[in-house]
Amino acid sequence: MGTVGKKIIKLDVKKVVKLFNKALADEWLAYYQYWIGAKVVAGPMREAVVAELIEHANDELRHAEMLVERITQLGGTPILDPKQWHKLTNCGYEVPNDPQTLPVLKQNIKGEQCAIKVYNKLVSLTKDKDPISHQMVLEILKDEVEHEEDLEAIVEDIKQS
Ligand code: FE
Ligand code: FE
Ligand code: MG
Repeated sequence: MGTVGKKIIKLDVKKVVKLFNKALADEWLAYYQYWIGAKVVAGPMREAVVAELIEHANDELRHAEMLVERITQLGGTPILDPKQWHKLTNCGYEVPNDPQTLPVLKQNIKGEQCAIKVYNKLVSLTKDKDPISHQMVLEILKDEVEHEEDLEAIVEDIKQS
């Protein structure tokens, strides 16, 4: 990153990079959880659930791209080895052993609730300290809030059908 671009950041850049790599690990695990979930899910409202899972998988991949771009801009190195995903993750990975729509949705809701907490902390951390990162984590947080809401709405639809 450029000299002044770096100077305006009032945070420990190494710490920010570390936290963004942890979020990057979460995004890849969330991406795969949604992606594989869409392949194996079965039961009530399957088609609607598949469509939502695919949409969210694409969003998580986009979040991963945003994080990598910013990590690189900050002079950091993004996670290069997938083995790091499990070491660095905040939110973990829920194995969809029961492929019924309700349990799969509940696993993904759990992930979104964790993601909301993670990004909310990053929003607070970067506020008035690193405007570019702040705007990015705010944008991601907005998506995660929407993801939780969408999944909870489908759970309600299934329960009422
Ligand atoms: Fe995400
Ligand atoms: Fe999400
Ligand atoms: Mg959605």
